[in-house]
Amino acid sequence: LIELDRAHLVHPVASYRSHEKAGVRVLTSAKGATVTDATGRQLVDGFAGLWCVNAGYGQESIIEAATRQLQELPYATGYFGLGSEPAIRLAAELAERAPGDLNHVYFTLGGSDAVDSTIRFIRYYYNAQGRPQKDQFISVEQGYHGSSVVGAGLTALPAFHAGFGVPYDWQHKIPSHYAYRNPAGETSEAIIAASVAALRAKVEALGQERVAAFYVEPIQGSGGVLVPPKGWMKAMRALCAELDILFIADEVITGFGRTGPLFACLDDDVVPDFMTVAKGLTSGYVPMGAVFMSDRIYDTIADGAGAAAVGHGYTYSAHPVSAAVGLACLKLYEDSLLENGRKAGARLMAGLESLKSHPLVGDVRGRGMLAAIELVVDKERKTPLPASAEPSRKIFDRAWENGLVIRAFYNGVLGYAPPLCCTDAEIDAIIERTARTLDQTLE
Ligand code: PMP
Repeated sequence: LIELDRAHLVHPVASYRSHEKAGVRVLTSAKGATVTDATGRQLVDGFAGLWCVNAGYGQESIIEAATRQLQELPYATGYFGLGSEPAIRLAAELAERAPGDLNHVYFTLGGSDAVDSTIRFIRYYYNAQGRPQKDQFISVEQGYHGSSVVGAGLTALPAFHAGFGVPYDWQHKIPSHYAYRNPAGETSEAIIAASVAALRAKVEALGQERVAAFYVEPIQGSGGVLVPPKGWMKAMRALCAELDILFIADEVITGFGRTGPLFACLDDDVVPDFMTVAKGLTSGYVPMGAVFMSDRIYDTIADGAGAAAVGHGYTYSAHPVSAAVGLACLKLYEDSLLENGRKAGARLMAGLESLKSHPLVGDVRGRGMLAAIELVVDKERKTPLPASAEPSRKIFDRAWENGLVIRAFYNGVLGYAPPLCCTDAEIDAIIERTARTLDQTLE
């Protein structure tokens, strides 16, 4: 398998040649929060795949729902006025639980195309109002919004920009709220004031009549699990309303219990104009994403633009098997997993906090089952690890040897997003194996 992989399978986000040298690690089975590799090694999956297997592996109710749907009706298009029962029911169930009046759900295949779709809907929305000049988009540095070309342009991690002409000139950024190294200081008031001032200045510079929307993640995931101070989301949302620009919450990572509630916006007490989700929606069993939009937006697009303007969609939008899985996931979350995730999340955060005294640990941050520790060379000066893939790769490898899957970001940030079904023993194993890995890194 390693040889075939080297020869034929192109992996995403890898330094291809060094990846080939190291050789692929093949996973063969999984149950709950534990994965098994082809050598028989069992590991606690501290990252739920790619922060997506929120429900955990091997959930019988999900497998049964998918199997039943595969037998009854494996496919139905959303075109030509057709539909399927699970897709309709899932849209209705989601709308009932979404913040405010986000009552309209458009299904995609994942997060990137959900983000892409919002750009399109937003343009339709303004076109329908006779304001097509509102065509400039703003997002936040260290934000991540997908691997499609448009999503990569909204993404504000320069590593994802090299070589293919993004960001586009209509995609702009403001600095992140990143507290640990914020020039404005670490207090909530200073950070919120700095972000408000930055967005205001950016909108002013571009011209308010030209700015369409502002994109945020309730917690920045791929930027290194950067949690904004309490009140940041509310302040930014209010500012967008004041400036007449749309506020888009990208909940691809934070949705479906990752931070505690079904959606992080519920905790932040914020109703966005659009919300994007994926990952935990189907927990990685099958692909699916979604865009939620408010009554006002949907009605404006539907009434104003005419059918021709909304004539695009995906072959696999609202896929019945994905929708059946989504319904089964939702039931699991509400029956037990949200509650278990809240308890496990508190244990995870307390455990990671206890590592703060370790000489390598500069910062510990997170909410619920979404957390990170940031490693530094010198705690006093907050000196980061060298910005290269090498140290992170070594830490990832050591953690693997110790029976733990984590995300080791290139800049020495270790990310945690375990399945919500984690037991106390599994959370304790995550902490203990992290401590062991850090000790070995010091040696
Ligand atoms: N938005 C956010 C916030 C994400 O974290 C991701 C994926 N990590 C995406 C969008 C893209 O989702 P996908 O990989 O499913 O296309």
